[in-house]
Amino acid sequence: MNGANSTLLDHIRFVLVETSHTGNLGATARAMKTMGLSRMHLVRPKSLPDAEALARASGADDLLANATLHDRLVDALAGCQLVIGSSARLRAVEWPLLEPPECARHLLAAARTGEVALVLGRERSGLTNEELALCHYLVHIPTHPGFSSLNLAAAAQVFAYEIRQAFRAGQGETLPREDRDLATAEALAAFHDHLTRTLVEIGFADPEQSGKLSRRLRRLFLRARPDWTEINILRGILSAAQGRKDPARFRRRERTEEGSP
Ligand code: SAH
Repeated sequence: MNGANSTLLDHIRFVLVETSHTGNLGATARAMKTMGLSRMHLVRPKSLPDAEALARASGADDLLANATLHDRLVDALAGCQLVIGSSARLRAVEWPLLEPPECARHLLAAARTGEVALVLGRERSGLTNEELALCHYLVHIPTHPGFSSLNLAAAAQVFAYEIRQAFRAGQGETLPREDRDLATAEALAAFHDHLTRTLVEIGFADPEQSGKLSRRLRRLFLRARPDWTEINILRGILSAAQGRKDPARFRRRERTEEGSP
C-alpha cells in the first residue's frame, strides 16, 4: 500500500456510541484492522477497553490503545465533511438510505478531500433520532426482514469489508471529487442551534414543539451539504433576523458612495 492510499483509509473513522460490551470494542477493532482501517472514536463507552476487549481484539490492540474518547457524538464528528449513520431498523423518517457498497464508495470519495465518519449505535437501542439528525445518510445492511439486527462488531465487519472492496476496486475514483470546502459536522450543528434559537425568538416556532421542526430543517440542510461560505451567509441572515444587524448600515454606505468623487 503506498502512502497516499493509506491516508485515504486513515481519513475514515468508525464512531461507536455508548457501547455496552467491551468485547464488542475489541471485535470491532479486529474487524477494522483486517480491512486496513485504524481510527476508532468512542462516545461514552459503558466501560473502557479491558481484558475481554483485548482478547476479542486478537492483535488489534493498537486500535483500542489509540481510540479517542468523547462525551458527545458531535465532538467525535469534529472535522468530518461526511457522516453516515448505521441502523438495523429502517426508520419512519425519510433519511437518504444507502446500501453498504454505496456507503463505502461515498466514504472513500469524500475521504479524498477530508475526514469522514461511520457511526455505529448501542447494542440495545441503536442510535437516537437526535444522533441520526447529525448524519448526511443512513446505511442499512439488508437482512432477513424479520431479524435485521446484527451484532455491533459483525455490522462493523460488513462495513469495513465493503470499504476494503471499494478501495481495492479504486471505485472512490468514480464519484465526482468534491471541490467545495464543505462545512464540518460541528459547524452544521452550531448553525442548527442558531437556527432553532432564532425561530423561537422571531415567533416562528413554538419552543415546546421546536424539536420536530428542528429535525426536519436539519435534514434539509444536510441534504444541501453547505460549504463554509454558505453557512456564514446563513448565520448572517439569522443574526439579522435576531435584530443583531442594523439595516441603516446599507443607507450609510449609499450616502458614502454618493458622496465620493
Ligand atoms: N436493537 C438495535 C440494534 C442495534 S445493533 C436497534 O434496533 O437499532 C448495534 C448497531 O449495529 C446498530 O446501531 C448499527 O450501528 C449496527 N447494525 C446492526 N445491524 C445492522 C443492520 N442490519 N444494518 C446497519 N447497521 C446495523
